Amino acid sequence: MATAMSVSAVTPAAAAVSRRRTMVCVPATARAPREMAEELAAAAALGADLAELRLDCLAGFAPRRDLPVILAKPRPLPALVTYRPKWEGGKYEGDDESRFEALLLAMELGAEYVDVELKVADKFMKLISGRKPDNCKLIVSSHNYESTPSSEELANLVAQIQATGADIVKIATTATEIVDVAKMFQILVHCQVPIIGLVMNDRGFISRVLCPKYGGFLTFGSLKKGKESAPAQPTAADLINVYNIRQIGPDTKVFGIIGKPVGHSKSPILHNEAFRSVGFNAVYVPFLVDDLAKFLNTYSSPDFAGFSCTIPHKEAAVRCCDEVDPIARDIGAVNTIVRRPDGKLVGYNTDYVGAISAIEDGIRAFEQRDPDTSPLAGRLFVVIGAGGAGKALAYGAKEKGARVVIANRTFARAQELANLIGGPALTLADLENYHPEEGMILANTTAIGMHPNVNETPLSKQALKSYAVVFDAVYTPKETRLLREAAECGATVVSGLEMFIRQAMGQFEHFTGMPAPDNLMRDIVLTKT
Ligand code: NAP
Repeated sequence: MATAMSVSAVTPAAAAVSRRRTMVCVPATARAPREMAEELAAAAALGADLAELRLDCLAGFAPRRDLPVILAKPRPLPALVTYRPKWEGGKYEGDDESRFEALLLAMELGAEYVDVELKVADKFMKLISGRKPDNCKLIVSSHNYESTPSSEELANLVAQIQATGADIVKIATTATEIVDVAKMFQILVHCQVPIIGLVMNDRGFISRVLCPKYGGFLTFGSLKKGKESAPAQPTAADLINVYNIRQIGPDTKVFGIIGKPVGHSKSPILHNEAFRSVGFNAVYVPFLVDDLAKFLNTYSSPDFAGFSCTIPHKEAAVRCCDEVDPIARDIGAVNTIVRRPDGKLVGYNTDYVGAISAIEDGIRAFEQRDPDTSPLAGRLFVVIGAGGAGKALAYGAKEKGARVVIANRTFARAQELANLIGGPALTLADLENYHPEEGMILANTTAIGMHPNVNETPLSKQALKSYAVVFDAVYTPKETRLLREAAECGATVVSGLEMFIRQAMGQFEHFTGMPAPDNLMRDIVLTKT
C-alpha cells in the first residue's frame, strides 16, 4: 500500500534525467592550512569530484594568510568553502561580518562553491552583491539536527532557499526512522534547481548512497573512517568502490539488508560486487529498520526490488509478504523478499538451503556415497538452538530424511520445535552424555562462540567425540572453538561461512534471476569480509 510520502509516487527517471551526475565531495577538516590542502590532494587521489574545506575546523584561522595556501592553484580538485558557525552545527564562534569577509575572499581566490546558511543568506547576498565571480556558485544551506520535517515543510524550505537567489539548495535533516528518507527523496526528485538533500544518522544512511538515483547534486564521503563531518557519513572509498555510486542512476534497482543492527553486515560488499560482476544495474544497501511493515509500505515502488532480512525481522517478514514459500512458512522465518513485477512481495528462506547443502557437500567430500541420495538421509541430526537458524536447520535436515533431535537452553522452546518436526527434545545438560549411536551429525545454531566470546563453546570436547560431522552456524571467527575441537576429535567440520556464502548465492539468484557467480562470491567472502 502506498502512503502519501511513499517512494512509489516518485518517478526518478523523469525528474532526474536532465541533471548532471551526482558528485562525491570529501570534507577536509584538518586543523592546519597545509594539512587541509593535503586532504584535498588525498581526496583527489581517492577519485572524489570536489572537497569541502571546513574553515571552521582550522585552529587560529587567519583568512588573508591561510586562504591563499589552501586555495593555491593549480588545485587537484574544485573547492567548496564552508565556514560553519556554532549555531548551525559548526565550530566558528565569532561574528558574521568577519566570517562573510573570509567567504568573499575565498570567492575572489577562485573557490568554485561557497556555502552560507539560510538564516543569514539575505545579509550575505547584500554583501556580495556585484562582487561574486561568475564561476563561483553559491550554496544556501539549512541543517536540522533533530528531525526531518514533513514533505510540505521541506518543499517550503526549498522555496525559501531558492528565493534567496541561491545557485544550489542544500537541506540536511536528521532521521529518527528510515522512512524519513523517503520525504527527502520526494524533494530531490521534484526540485527544479540543483539540490543537495541528505538525511543524517544511521537511519538516514541510504540518503547518502541513493541520492544519485533521485538527482542529488552531491553526496559527502569522508577521507577515511573517523574523519566524518556528519553522523553516519560513509567513506568516499566505500561510496565509489563498494556502492559503485558512479553507476547509480534513475533506473538503478535498489536491494538491501533489513536489520537492527545492520551496520556491521558484510552483505553490501558481497552483493554489490556480485551485481557489478554480471552487469546488473542495481545497488545493495543496509536498511536500519525499526518497523518492518512501515518500511515496506513506504518503500513500495518497483525500484525497491528485493530485500535480505536479518535479526530481528525474519519472523515479521513472514507476515509482511503477500506470498511465502511453503518451507519458509513452516520454518516461520523469511530471509529473502522479492518484489514481483505485479508489486507483490514474495518471501523465501535461503538459510536452510545454504546450511543443508553446505553440510551435505562437506560430508560428500569425505565419505563415498550414492550421489542421488542425501548423505543426511537416515542419520541422527542434533540441532543445538531453537531460534531462526535452529528451525531452518531442523526443517532442512528433516526434509532430507534425517532423524532430528533438538537441544536448547530454554527447554520449552526445544520441545516446541521438536513437536513441530516430530522428534525428541533434550536439555543442554542431557547433550553432554548423549551418544545413542555412531555417525551422528551436530549443528550449533546458537550464538555461543561468536566474536567477541571466542573462547565459549556449546559442547565439551569430550562430548564432541561422539560426532562424525560438526557444523557451526557462527562464522565470526571463521574457525570457532567448536569447529577447532571437533576437528581435533577427528570429525568432518563444516563452517558457518559456507552457509553464509550459499544463502547469499540463493538470494542473488532470487534477486537477479541469474545464476550466482559462485567462485567470485566465495572469493569475496574469504578475502574481503
Ligand atoms: P535467534 O533466533 O535469536 O536464536 C538464538 C538461539 O540461541 C536460541 O535457541 C537461544 O536459546 C540460543 N542461545 C543464545 N545465546 C545462548 C547462550 N548463551 N547459551 C545457550 N543458548 C543460547 O538467533 P538466530 O537467527 O537463530 O541466529 C543464531 C546464530 O546463527 C547467530 O550466531 C547467527 O549469527 C548465526 N547465523 C548464521 C548464519 C550463516 O549464514 N552462517 C545465518 C543465520 C544465523 P534460548 O531459546 O534459550 O534463548
